[in-house]
Amino acid sequence: MRKKIVAGNWKMNMELADGLKFAEAIDTYFKSKPSRAEVILCTPFIHLAGASEILKSGKVCLGAQNCSSETSGAYTGEVSAAMIKSTGAQYVIIGHSERRSYYHEDDKLLNKKTILAIASGLKVIFCCGEVQKERESEKHFEVVRKQIGDGLFNLPPDEFKNIVIAYEPVWAIGTGLTATPDQAQEIHNFIRGLISDKYGKEIAEDLTILYGGSCKPSNAIEIFSKPDVDGGLIGGASLKKEDFTAIVEAI
Ligand code: PEP
Repeated sequence: MRKKIVAGNWKMNMELADGLKFAEAIDTYFKSKPSRAEVILCTPFIHLAGASEILKSGKVCLGAQNCSSETSGAYTGEVSAAMIKSTGAQYVIIGHSERRSYYHEDDKLLNKKTILAIASGLKVIFCCGEVQKERESEKHFEVVRKQIGDGLFNLPPDEFKNIVIAYEPVWAIGTGLTATPDQAQEIHNFIRGLISDKYGKEIAEDLTILYGGSCKPSNAIEIFSKPDVDGGLIGGASLKKEDFTAIVEAI
């Protein structure tokens, strides 16, 4: 059975002390109420080392939100995948739409980051999804096919176990708009089909595919009940303990 995952993406929120306090509250919660889903906190870089110490029981996993496309050296301001791994983090988000649009990260660069992250021992939450105009002109399948093909399809099959795909329609991120459960299922099923065509049925069936985009306690159960939706990547609602834990429990 493939793994269910709920990952919180804190984005650029919470100063050091507040973030660590929050990580502790989430850890305490899941120590007393273990979840069926793997729970991941994707924090800003500054929280990683401290949060790793707090989460050491392993009930909650840890991830970063980005990594450099280079291994080391004169790249001022960058943080490498190996540095992230050295904090104790297990995951990194690559290709979030905010990185694609605000920092102009293209498929080629994201592919380079993905290869490096896996080589450094991290698992990758690889994001894809269309903007509103693309959805309105029914180009969403084509857009997602290209993002996944260019971002991932030069990986050898045995490395695919280190990939989680997050489908995040850009028009639903932070907007309050959500894909309907049927829209999510349709494209998750399409993504699983792409993986099956490229890597075979077994790898496709084992792949965890997350939905992201204004997921909240009130819509999580319906979205997660779809057969190809294996959990969620949660932005805004991951910053409130009650909302985040309720979404995890929706699994
Ligand atoms: C995200 O940033 O990955 C996300 C899904 O954000 P939100 O839940 O706030 O829409």
